[in-house]
Amino acid sequence: MKRDYYEVLGVAKSASKDEIKSAYRKLALKYHPDKNPGNKEAEEKFKEINEAYEVLSDEQKKQQYDTFGHDAMGGTPGGGSNPFGGSYSYSSGDFSNMGDIFGDIFGDIFGGGASGRKRSRTSQRRGEDLRYDIEVSYLDVMKGAEVSIDIPKKETCSKCHGTGSRDNSAPKQCPQCKGKGQVKYSQGFFSFSQECPQCKGKGTVIANPCPDCRGEGIVNARKTIKVKIPQGVQEGTSLKVTGSGNAGINGAPAGDLYVVIHMKQTSGFRREGDDLYTEISISFPKAAMGAEIDVPILEGSVKIKIPQGTQSGRTLRIREQGFPMLGRRTRGDLYVKINVVVPTSLTDQQKRALFEYAKTMGDVPQDAKYQSHSFFKKIFG
Ligand SMILES: [Zn+2]
Ligand SMILES: [Zn+2]
Repeated sequence: MKRDYYEVLGVAKSASKDEIKSAYRKLALKYHPDKNPGNKEAEEKFKEINEAYEVLSDEQKKQQYDTFGHDAMGGTPGGGSNPFGGSYSYSSGDFSNMGDIFGDIFGDIFGGGASGRKRSRTSQRRGEDLRYDIEVSYLDVMKGAEVSIDIPKKETCSKCHGTGSRDNSAPKQCPQCKGKGQVKYSQGFFSFSQECPQCKGKGTVIANPCPDCRGEGIVNARKTIKVKIPQGVQEGTSLKVTGSGNAGINGAPAGDLYVVIHMKQTSGFRREGDDLYTEISISFPKAAMGAEIDVPILEGSVKIKIPQGTQSGRTLRIREQGFPMLGRRTRGDLYVKINVVVPTSLTDQQKRALFEYAKTMGDVPQDAKYQSHSFFKKIFG
C-alpha cells in the first residue's frame, strides 16, 4: 500500500506551495543518502518523499492526484480505475526528474558532496517535458484518430549534431573550473559549490562554437508530431508521448510531451461520461401510432423504434450506441429525446381529417372563430 503523499510530507491537504516545499526540504535533508550512507530505510524514505514532492509540487499532477489518488499516477496500468487507461499514464516511480527538483531546491549545498554524479548530470541534461492542449471532435473520440500537432520545441542542432562545435573539434577543458563544472566556496560548516559561470557547469568549453546553436548543441524549432487519440478518451486526459519533449543536452535523453485532451462539442449533441445525447422531432401520427425512424448520429444514422403513444419530451435509450469506453470492449448508450411537433399550417383536407379525428375523441375545438371557418360551414351544411 502506498502512503498518502500529504502524509508522507507531513502537510495538510490545504498546504500552500511554500509549505509543501519547506516540508519536503526538511525531510530530504534528514534522509538524504549522503547523510545516511548505507542506510536502506533512509534511502526508501528519501525515494518516497521525492515521489510525493514530484507530484505535489506540480500543479497539474497535484490536481490529478487530489481527484483520483494514486490511480492517477499510473500505478495500475490498464486497471479499471486508472483514468488514463492502458499505456497512457503518468510515469510515477520515474525518478528522472528527481535531480531537477533536487537541484532546484538545494542548489549547491550538496553540490560538492555528490561531485561525480552531479557533474555528469550537469553536463548531460535531460530535456524538459512539454505540455500541449488540443481539442478533439466527438467523432474523433468515437472512432479514435491520429492528429498532427505542430509544436515549438528545442531540437538537437542539425548543423553540429549537438556537439556545439563549428569544426567538430573536441570540447576543451574549462580553464576556470579545470573541468569540474563547479567552483567551490566555503562558508561556516558548509562547503558551497556553484555552477561554473564560464562553462555553465559543463566542465568543457568549445573553442569554435557552431553558428546555428551558438555552441549550445540545441536550437529552437517547430516540429510536427503525430498523436494517437484513443477511442473514448475523456476531457482532461493527459497523453504521454515519450521522448517528444525538448531535446536533451550533450546526448542526454529528450523530455516527454504531455498532450492534454479537450472536447470540442458537436452541435446537436452532448456527451456525458460515455453516453451521447441528442434530440429528434417527429410528427403527431408517428408519436401516436409508433414508427421506425432514422436518427442522425455523429456519422450516419441509427434506426430506432418509436413506441405507440410516445409523449413529447420522452427520452429513449439505445444501448451501446454511445462512446467506446476507454480500454474496454463495451460502449456507452445513446439517449434520444423525442419532440412531438404540432404542424404550423394545415390544408383544408388535413383540417377535415383532423376534425373527424377530434369528433371520435369527443374533443371538437369549440372556438367560435374556428367554428365559423368556411370549411366547417361546408361540413355542417
Ligand atoms: Zn549547432
Ligand atoms: Zn567551467
